[in-house]
Amino acid sequence: MTAGNMELFDAGTKGRGLRARRDINTGEVLFAEPSYAAVVFNSLASQVCHSCFRRQANLHRCAQCRFAHYCDRTCQTAGWDDHKQECAAIRKSGSVPNENVRLAARLLWRRNRDQGLASDSQLVPVDQLQDHLTDLPAGELEKLELDVRNFLRFWSCGTKQHPSEYISHIFGIIKFNGLTLQDQRGQESVGLGLFPNLSLVNHDCWPNCTATLNHGNRSAVSSTLHSPLRMELRALGKISEGEELTVSYVDFLNLSADRQKQLKERFQLDCSCNHCTQHIGDDLMAAAAEEKPSADVVKEVAAFSKETLEKVEKARHDGDHGQVLKLCQQCLEKQEKVLAETHLCKLRVLSALVEVLSYLRKFSEAAEYARKMLEGYRKLYPPYYPQLGLALMRAGVTHWHAGQVEVGHKMICKAYRIMIVTHGPNHSITKDLESMRSLTELELKALKENVLDMKNLQMTSSSSADESSKDFLRKQ
Ligand SMILES: [Zn+2]
Ligand SMILES: [Zn+2]
Ligand SMILES: [Zn+2]
Repeated sequence: MTAGNMELFDAGTKGRGLRARRDINTGEVLFAEPSYAAVVFNSLASQVCHSCFRRQANLHRCAQCRFAHYCDRTCQTAGWDDHKQECAAIRKSGSVPNENVRLAARLLWRRNRDQGLASDSQLVPVDQLQDHLTDLPAGELEKLELDVRNFLRFWSCGTKQHPSEYISHIFGIIKFNGLTLQDQRGQESVGLGLFPNLSLVNHDCWPNCTATLNHGNRSAVSSTLHSPLRMELRALGKISEGEELTVSYVDFLNLSADRQKQLKERFQLDCSCNHCTQHIGDDLMAAAAEEKPSADVVKEVAAFSKETLEKVEKARHDGDHGQVLKLCQQCLEKQEKVLAETHLCKLRVLSALVEVLSYLRKFSEAAEYARKMLEGYRKLYPPYYPQLGLALMRAGVTHWHAGQVEVGHKMICKAYRIMIVTHGPNHSITKDLESMRSLTELELKALKENVLDMKNLQMTSSSSADESSKDFLRKQ
């Protein structure tokens, strides 16, 4: 089976996988896949468009169910096929079930509508994805069964009935294949979606691709120029024909043992990638400072840092910014001369510090910590990596706000070069970077001209001063 630049193949112990059908360049899109089914989180139902998943102010409410919200008529019309039956079921049942139940219902309505494959390029029917039900721990299984019961109640307002084993299978598929969808700025998770082809891409902690959500474009006057919400698989480097395509399901900035634990818990996956088997990067992520403190001191400070980071998380949750700042600064002081710049605990404290200081508008301090954090990130992440690009962008903005326009501009340019690969030229983040790049460039130019003007002014004034002093001397 093939679709675009890739084909399905037997990836051995990993099961099915996808590989490149030809040589691929850095930043190339291997495929773009619209969501098979997707829902906005219930908690954000009135703040995020149910069709394009952009976070916007003043959304229009569906007059019938009063639950779904849209940017405008264009989005509402585009989303109607997916919402029509949901709208009727919400009205009939008089309540809105949770997002998992709504996603399962949307998936089944879609499946009934399309009778299997949604398009020629879909490689497997959505209900043939893996559910991992037999591996689920008892507690998780109970939650899933509750969802199944709620689903059957919601669905009973519909037509075609399904056996509850099949519904459990669908919930298993959602649990293991559902992807969280971010808003257009990449700042917040706003929903959940299923992309059957993307689900076939296996994990690697050091992947050769990244999956990026593009919210599409519906602003053009002519609807022929509109594009839908879609997930794009983009190459992070050159990929040779026949090479397996991989994405990372977890953040690389975790020790290999911790990544493996997360992968097992969340995806029932035993990672055997090079970075895990050879523990690549672990030494840097747990490294001691150049001062070579004893192993015991390093251990003690790392343990203290972990405790502090838990407290920071709590204070952040409570909105106590002063406490976050205090805890982080105390912790960083202890880490100084003990943990290296690349130590995960240090990077996490720095990240929390940058966030809280930016929030408190203390940009100069935030900028200083952002630079330190970036030094660590650069040594750990691959050169083209979304998290690195986003961190560079935030650091660039922080410097800009702190009045360090030149450094900020350079960081924004670097972030742009990464995001053009990981997100592509049409993504809102890349477009934001593009306008920030021009703004900082203009500001820099103005600053330089001002400095020149100032210098000229000083020179003319000093030369006139010279003249007048000469005049004065002559007159003597
Ligand atoms: Zn919209
Ligand atoms: Zn409605
Ligand atoms: Zn791995």
